[in-house]
Amino acid sequence: MHPAWSSLKARIGNRLARHLRPQPFRLRNNGPMVSFTFDDAPISAATRGAGMLEEYDARGTFYVAGGLADSWSGNWNTVSADDVADLHHRGHEIGCHTFSHTRATDLTSAAMAAELEKNRRYLLALDPSIRIENFAYPYGTGSLLRKGQLGKAFRSSRGILPGVNSGTVDLQYLRATPLVDCLIDRDGIDRAFDEAVASNGWLIFYGHDVEAEPSPYGCTPALLRHALEAAARRKIPAMSVANALQLAGA
Ligand SMILES: [Zn+2]
Repeated sequence: MHPAWSSLKARIGNRLARHLRPQPFRLRNNGPMVSFTFDDAPISAATRGAGMLEEYDARGTFYVAGGLADSWSGNWNTVSADDVADLHHRGHEIGCHTFSHTRATDLTSAAMAAELEKNRRYLLALDPSIRIENFAYPYGTGSLLRKGQLGKAFRSSRGILPGVNSGTVDLQYLRATPLVDCLIDRDGIDRAFDEAVASNGWLIFYGHDVEAEPSPYGCTPALLRHALEAAARRKIPAMSVANALQLAGA
């Protein structure tokens, strides 16, 4: 596919997906919640990131694209099959991120179905007890044409549109705030938590690597710790997307 056409389709499809064909759901959580999610996922998220979450008795959601596993992405080394199984055994959620990390706007219905099935087989071969309930759009690109299909396959789909999810949300276009040093600072994180408290909302962070010198898509351990402390100070429970949806009555 021509790259310019692909990126035009991505911009338009994502914009339309933000506004049209919502799967509206009224969140019924009793208090604010936070979820830490990691996409792709880099080994440092599975080791350092997951370990820090566990220090705070929290569990995260790792959106895995099986086709990226055990490879160098250009920015990080991606988790191996053993890393994914280990995350699952430690109580973290494994979500779907397509198999080959292709924008939803570049996939026909049949191609998306094949991607989901391939990733499902990959994950279930690691451990058949993995429950694949939630999806994150590769590159954060939502797709108007694929939303309905994803809504049948998953409880939720997450983009990268910043903001707190509160009140009536679109389960197939959940908002997520970057936990990325290039995009947010400590004050920004604190403001997001304050907004979650004020709106009884669900704050979802997305990130990638967790390194002292992170990629442009990742965070430092210090920024992750700041966010975990900010949650603990406000007594906001940090939980996987699956558990948050359950608390919200979805
Ligand atoms: Zn990704």
